[in-house]
Amino acid sequence: MKIQELSKALDEIRREGLYRSVSDLAMKTASCGVDRNGKEYIVFSSNDYLGMTHEAPVIEAARKALSRGTGSGGARLTSGATFQAGDLEKALARFKGKEAALVFNTGYMANVGILYGLAGKDDVIFSDALNHASIIDGCRISPAKTVVYRHSDMDDLARLLEDTPCGGQRFIVTDGVFSMDGDICPLPALYELKKKYDACLIVDDAHATGVIGETGRGTAEYFHLPRAVDIQAGTLSKALGAEGGFAAASEDIVNWLRNRSRPFIFSTALPASVMAAAGAALRLLEEEGKTYLGRLRQNTDTMRRLLREGGIPVIAGDTPVIPIIMNDPEGTVTFAGALREEGILVSAIRPPTVPEGTSRLRLTVTAAHKEEEIHRAAAAIIRLWQRGQYHG
Ligand SMILES: *Cc1c(COP(=O)(O)O)cnc(C)c1O
Repeated sequence: MKIQELSKALDEIRREGLYRSVSDLAMKTASCGVDRNGKEYIVFSSNDYLGMTHEAPVIEAARKALSRGTGSGGARLTSGATFQAGDLEKALARFKGKEAALVFNTGYMANVGILYGLAGKDDVIFSDALNHASIIDGCRISPAKTVVYRHSDMDDLARLLEDTPCGGQRFIVTDGVFSMDGDICPLPALYELKKKYDACLIVDDAHATGVIGETGRGTAEYFHLPRAVDIQAGTLSKALGAEGGFAAASEDIVNWLRNRSRPFIFSTALPASVMAAAGAALRLLEEEGKTYLGRLRQNTDTMRRLLREGGIPVIAGDTPVIPIIMNDPEGTVTFAGALREEGILVSAIRPPTVPEGTSRLRLTVTAAHKEEEIHRAAAAIIRLWQRGQYHG
């Protein structure tokens, strides 16, 4: 598009109710933010599921590591290989029950780096239709052929695995917990198909690590299938309260990525302070996981129950990602705006993030919410919903 035509195209996006802008917010605690006018909000749109961003040991670990400088100064293969990153990789591998792990700068880069680094031109990637954009982009830039199967539809995947010729390696890639609907992938069936077709199974546990499974180890633990997943992708920026992404897998896979994955090789490493924060959060999760996960579960159950009792059509589920489908993008934005007026922040999710006709409010509940905050938010949502002017 010609640069001169951008302004008109932006107007078109505004007319469709799909324009996006950024509202600055300073987090005072893990659940409370304040905007530039000093107005306070309870935040129900954060992925800080365990409230780790504000836990004292996590902040202290980051502060201590700041004595190593504010930036890492180079890529991991040059001068950016901090002790903290090396230690974190060992801890992540142990936590995920894998031989090794590799840290990337974001979860987005981890997914792109895994698929681009590993899948070559003779290979085929089978990808769930609702996978996260970072997986889609990894498929796009990888030279492998990509085949998209219907969301969590194992009959469709089986048929495609059977019918698609492949001279190299088959990969199956899926979100563990799907980011927009909050549903969990059918891992037992994926595991069976992976074995039958000798495929490499990649599960992106961005919304699952620290969230599902008895001790927060994610999708494999949730289904009691510790060996089902070949490559555990994840992020350090959600339940682990820091920034970054990772792949946990066999030594061979990790060594290959370290040698061949361009997002890993060609980007400056995260600073020691960020790696130390993620490491401290992971330690807290390992030591006191039951407490954090218990609080998260209780808050999730409370919010889901209150909304259901108030007649809100929440999609049933087992995760703290709670979507309320509104269809119309403008109605969704208006509804989120009305909640914002009342000091409650939820996300209005619209196409192209989700399919046409499925615009939604997306609430995320965390372990850091106080019971009173959950009651206040649910009551406001129910009251606005009952006025009925926002949905069709
Ligand atoms: C958030 C998310 C990512 C990206 O992680 P970042 O660390 O935010 O870059 C990847 N996959 C899924 C499923 C996500 O929800």
